[in-house]
Amino acid sequence: MAKPLVAIVGRPNVGKSTLFNRLVGGQVAIVEDIPGVTRDRLYRDSEWRGYEFTLVDTGGITEGPGGLEAAVRRQAEQAVNEADVVLFLVDAREGLTANDLAVAEILRRSGRPVILVANKVENFTDLSSLADFYQLGLGDPLPISAAHGMNVGDLLDRVVELLPRRVEGEGRGGIRVAIVGRPNVGKSSLVNRLLGEERVIVSEIPGTTRDAVDTHFKKNDKEYILIDTAGIRRKARITTSTERYSVQRAFRAVDRADVVLVVLDATEGVTNQDKRIAGYSHEKGKASIIIVNKWDLIPKDDKTLERYRKAVLYELAFMDYAPVLFVSALTGQRIHQVLPLVDEVAMEAKRRVPTSTLNTVVQESVFLTPPPAKIYYATQVGIQPPTVVFFTSDPEAIPLSYRRYLENQLRRAFGFKGTPLRLIFRESK
Ligand code: GDP
Ligand code: GDP
Repeated sequence: MAKPLVAIVGRPNVGKSTLFNRLVGGQVAIVEDIPGVTRDRLYRDSEWRGYEFTLVDTGGITEGPGGLEAAVRRQAEQAVNEADVVLFLVDAREGLTANDLAVAEILRRSGRPVILVANKVENFTDLSSLADFYQLGLGDPLPISAAHGMNVGDLLDRVVELLPRRVEGEGRGGIRVAIVGRPNVGKSSLVNRLLGEERVIVSEIPGTTRDAVDTHFKKNDKEYILIDTAGIRRKARITTSTERYSVQRAFRAVDRADVVLVVLDATEGVTNQDKRIAGYSHEKGKASIIIVNKWDLIPKDDKTLERYRKAVLYELAFMDYAPVLFVSALTGQRIHQVLPLVDEVAMEAKRRVPTSTLNTVVQESVFLTPPPAKIYYATQVGIQPPTVVFFTSDPEAIPLSYRRYLENQLRRAFGFKGTPLRLIFRESK
């Protein structure tokens, strides 16, 4: 089985080769002091805490059409196409550049897991040089010194956290569930409810991040891992900075999850922070369930639930594939439906549709509503999320509305409840 690929991208001279050498144990030493020197792509196997991966140095930047800037962007595009995790290296001494912003944009759009790494930090007591890098929209920059090996262990921790999990036949298996939401929506009450019932076997697994604790449990002969329950149970006073921290923490939990439970407070509805967290889960291609908690506090008649469901999905329209469950962690109402729904959406996210069946549906859809360009053929290339490539005479000519139509047709035919779908259009003659 091929090992997961980890790519290092960034401008010339930020320290990519130095980091590469550091991560593979120093056996390939080709560090040049001349910016932009051409090197071949290097692949080397590496390992950290028992996790194996292959590291790619896409450092071979050659000035083609469009100059260096374009070359760096091409390199980033190549990396997101092939890598499972991308390390985006920036130079803390030089600070933020326009080129960094362009590359960040490519990386963000790709939805690939990206770790923003600020290199050449040798003084960890003064991190003020990192402030500008927040503009890249890739979260906290992780300061390292590749040359001196400082903080490189933390970087590797983050890398192995983000490596794709081998879902089938894993030793310590189970569906990985992240429970996310704003403070006070009832996450820890929900966790206690889920764990508190009988016939549950619980054990705690230290997460790969220093203070994360995952909870492994077994219920009805099925295994689950609740991600970062330490982050949920810790009671921090809420200030602006801890609020930002809690969002970052939620993002990290989402990164590692198979299924994300987006928990809302029924009395408050959907807030902007809820949208951010849900949006992140969607972009990362995670299966999601929207949990409306504290349902006991809502005065209701026979239409309230349906009306509320519509209102939630209106606010979270990008996630209209997600089931909405109305619960009360306080009274236990519908809590027993949570895990069966987790099982279901986890399965949907791993659904593989045979090519022939897929094409029958695509041809029918194209026949019913013809697209502005020819669509020849479709094939599913991935799961979690299910990813379908359409070969077409002109990808640019297929408008968003038609892409939505195809997505709806696929959902009508195959379900895919709770999971985002990725539709990719490629040119073919
Ligand atoms: P690349 O072009 O991105 O592959 O960058 P290199 O790895 O060739 O490094 C460019 C320059 O930065 C070299 O002179 C390195 O010695 C220097 N460099 C790399 N990492 C560090 C670091 O952590 N601290 C400092 N001060 N210099 C570094
Ligand atoms: P967390 O910060 O998201 O982990 O939220 P907690 O689980 O600590 O809950 C915050 C507050 O909401 C506590 O006072 C809980 O007792 C209360 N709470 C949690 N779930 C429910 C619920 O379903 N109904 C009601 N009425 N209160 C709840």
